[in-house]
Amino acid sequence: MSNNNPQTLQWQTLSGDHHLAPFSDYKQLKEQGPRIITKAKGVYLWDSEGQQILDGMAGLWCVAVGYGREELVQAAARQMRELPYYNLFFQTAHPPALELAKAVADVAPAGMSHVFFTGSGSEGNDTVLRLVRHYWALKGKPGKKTIIGRVNGYHGSTVAAASMGGMAFMHEQGGLPIPGIVHIAQPYWFGEGGDMAPDEFGVWAADQLEKKILEVGEDNVAAFIAEPIQGAGGVIIPPATYWPRIKQILDRYDILFVADEVICGFGRTGEWFGSDYYGLVPDLMTIAKGLTSGYIPMGGVIVRDEIVNVINEGGDFNHGFTYSGHPVAAAVGLANLRILQEEKILERVRSETAPYLQKRLRELADHPLVGEVRGLGMLGAIELVKNKATRERYVGQGVGMVCRQFCFDNGLIMRAVGDTMIIAPPLVISASEIDELVSKARKCLDLTLNALNG
Ligand SMILES: *Cc1c(COP(=O)(O)O)cnc(C)c1O
Repeated sequence: MSNNNPQTLQWQTLSGDHHLAPFSDYKQLKEQGPRIITKAKGVYLWDSEGQQILDGMAGLWCVAVGYGREELVQAAARQMRELPYYNLFFQTAHPPALELAKAVADVAPAGMSHVFFTGSGSEGNDTVLRLVRHYWALKGKPGKKTIIGRVNGYHGSTVAAASMGGMAFMHEQGGLPIPGIVHIAQPYWFGEGGDMAPDEFGVWAADQLEKKILEVGEDNVAAFIAEPIQGAGGVIIPPATYWPRIKQILDRYDILFVADEVICGFGRTGEWFGSDYYGLVPDLMTIAKGLTSGYIPMGGVIVRDEIVNVINEGGDFNHGFTYSGHPVAAAVGLANLRILQEEKILERVRSETAPYLQKRLRELADHPLVGEVRGLGMLGAIELVKNKATRERYVGQGVGMVCRQFCFDNGLIMRAVGDTMIIAPPLVISASEIDELVSKARKCLDLTLNALNG
């Protein structure tokens, strides 16, 4: 990396001397130092060297309305002056949290009219685990404790959330998963479908849920948790048969369904929630990321009315966070929802920009390095392979990371999940910015292929 700005090196030194980074290779980070991002506007970031970078990941899937929205800044400033902090414990409340709860309920599926706020998606999923077990205990079924998650699902990085997630590399550290959590196969046809056709594989993957319920025993299962579309796992869009089959199975058994909407929620599919897109009927939905467009941390759990009725009768719920429903975060959330609605951003995604992004992205399928391009709404994935026909991968060459580095150096952020390149740009990305994203992506695929042919 070039170093024109002397401050870059100073910041990189601070990183090595004082900072422990989330999800980073510590050895590599110590040697190379981080890229320093200093400012942002619209869909663009600038690093400390002055390079402009198109943010194909909306930060970490969260900056839905784009960077530099003055309304969100003003909402935070106003709320900080009025009431910078108070809590929601012990029978107190404040207007921003209550008004945001109503605003979220207004866009949530019918029959889901209550929200428990948290500081993050991970805290939301830890809340889910405690809430569903509390619910079943109140229903006189305290044995229903087991949560069924999926291999390669991502639900966050706290102990319960990481346990419900199925990331093997996370479970390897710190003795996870905790007891009472089991996992079934993921509906990842490209990677794991073998000789099955996608639709056949979708049915097979869904049937693993029923198998697991029968194995654990319906009386012991509290809930099934899943992302409508796996994000961190590699933008895994299930075969068309998967969700309908899962719905049939859920109908047969008395277990709760938790949709982790942290990525899909608030417009990423063109609908308010991924559950709306797929016609799912969740009992609980975890939210975060797009709720505040990432301008300030906030998450939560939207809960179906039948569950609320039961826990209302149960007296104390002994759970909460100092920053549950933080007034400044709630004010930003409200302003963010207002922008999404007033600027008709979902409508535009659905009818214009998502179809255009998906059309342009699929043009990359002809590239010799590309085994599949898939996507939906403002989500996309590009599978890098050695052999297009057999889906054979390059082994041991870290092709995804090579491609990611070329992207960075050429002014584009695409994330690598193994050898799957993924994108999730801000929902406000324009057609010409989509053109720029796709042409940069193609250039970086070329550079990656050249490097492989070295
Ligand atoms: C990011 C993410 C989480 C965790 O949210 P944090 O705010 O990072 O704790 C949970 N679920 C999904 C699907 C996510 O993508």
